[in-house]
Amino acid sequence: MDSMDLSCSFCGRKKEETDLLIAGNKAHICDKCVEQAHFIATEDNESKSNANLEDLDLKKPKEIKAFLDEYVIGQDHSKKILAVAVYNHYKRITQKTSAEEIEIEKSNILLVGRTGTGKTLLAKSIAKMLQVPLAIVDATVLTEAGYVGEDVESLLTRLLQAADYDLEKAQKGIVFIDEIDKIARKNDNPSITRDVSGEGVQQGLLKLLEGTVVNVPPKGGRKHPDQKFIEVDTKNILFIAGGAFDGIEKLISQRLNMQAVGYGQLQKGDQIDRENLVQYITPKDVRDFGLIPEIIGRLPVLTHMNPLDRDALKQILTQPKNAIIKQYKKLFEMDNISFEIEDEALDYIVDKAIDYKLGARGLRSLCESIFIEAMYEMPSSESKSLVVDKSYAERHLSFERLSQLKAVS
Ligand code: ADP
Repeated sequence: MDSMDLSCSFCGRKKEETDLLIAGNKAHICDKCVEQAHFIATEDNESKSNANLEDLDLKKPKEIKAFLDEYVIGQDHSKKILAVAVYNHYKRITQKTSAEEIEIEKSNILLVGRTGTGKTLLAKSIAKMLQVPLAIVDATVLTEAGYVGEDVESLLTRLLQAADYDLEKAQKGIVFIDEIDKIARKNDNPSITRDVSGEGVQQGLLKLLEGTVVNVPPKGGRKHPDQKFIEVDTKNILFIAGGAFDGIEKLISQRLNMQAVGYGQLQKGDQIDRENLVQYITPKDVRDFGLIPEIIGRLPVLTHMNPLDRDALKQILTQPKNAIIKQYKKLFEMDNISFEIEDEALDYIVDKAIDYKLGARGLRSLCESIFIEAMYEMPSSESKSLVVDKSYAERHLSFERLSQLKAVS
C-alpha cells in the first residue's frame, strides 16, 4: 500500500491530515481518535464507579428519617440532623470532582447523650439502610502508636473485616466510635508525661476523620514489618462518634447562666429546660469538656440524644420493627405457643427499669428474667398459651435478680 493511501480506520482521515497515525494489526488509528477513545474509556470508568455509588440506593432525608423511625423511638431532632448529614455525605461521594467545583466537606457526626439512649442503634440503622459495612469501636481501647492497646488504624481493620475484606465496600462504610468522651483531655490533671489515652489518640484520629490513605494491617494487631498492609482511603468513610460526656450538663448550665446575665443571645423570658440541658449543647461545651478543637472541627455535625422517658421506654418494648416483645412473641410462636402481654405488665417492666435506673438497656434483661421459666417449661408442656399480666411479671421477677441487674448496669 502506498503510504499516501494510509488513513485512520476509525475516522477515515488521511495520514497527511493527522499529526500521528499509529499502525496496528491491519488497522490504523490517528492521534485524535486515540484521544477520543481515552475520553470514552475514562468516562465509562467514572460512570461505573458512580453506578456503584448509586447501588447505595440513596434515599432523600425524609425517607431516611422514616426508615430510622421504624427502628429508633423518639430522638426526632437527631434523626433529622442525621438524615441530612448522611444524605449530604453520600451526595459528596457521588459528586464528580473537578478543579473548579465547590468541594463539599465531610459531614462526620458527633452524638452526645446518656448511655442507652440509642446512639449505637442509630448508627446501626443507618448502615442497615444503606447496606454498607459498619464497624463499632470503643475509643477507650485506642492508644497512641507505641503504647499498649490498639493503634487508631485498628478502626479500619474492623471496617475491613465487616466488609469481608472488600476494599471498595469498606471505603464507603461507616465507623462508629463509641465513648469518644473517654479520650478527652483531662484539664484538671496536667501531666508532664505524655497523655497516653487522651490527646495523643485524638491527634491520631484527626487524619482518619478528615480523609487520608492509611496502611492497615488486615488482621489487626501491632504493625509488623513482615505483615502485608492494605491501603485504605478514608476520604469517603463516614465517621459517627458517640459519647455520654458525663458532667457536660454542668458546663452547659454555666454557659447558659453567663448568657442569661447578658453575654449571649438568650432572650429574657426564654425558658431553659433544666431537666434536659444536653439539648443546648454547642461545640464550645464539647471543647470545654476536653476534645481538642481540631477533632471537633472534623466532626462538624453535632447533635444530642434526649433522655428516654417512661413513654419512650414503653414504646421501645413494643414498637420498633424488631422490638423486644415482638421477638419473644416470635420465639414462642415457633413452638406454636400464643403469647400475649397485658399493658399493665408492660408498665410494670418500665417502672422497674426506671426505679433501678436500668434504662433501655435493662428492658431486655428484665424481660429475660420474667420469661425465662416459660421459655424453659412451655416447649415440652401441653399448655400452648401464655398471658403475662402484672402479677405474673411481679412473681417472676425476683428481688435478687433485680439487684443483680442493678449491679451490672
Ligand atoms: P447507646 O449507644 O446510646 O449507649 P444503644 O443504642 O446501644 O445505646 O441502646 C441500648 C439498647 O437500648 C439497645 O438494645 C437499643 O435497641 C435500645 N434503645 C435505646 N434507645 C432506643 C431508642 N431510642 N429506640 C429504640 N430502642 C432503643
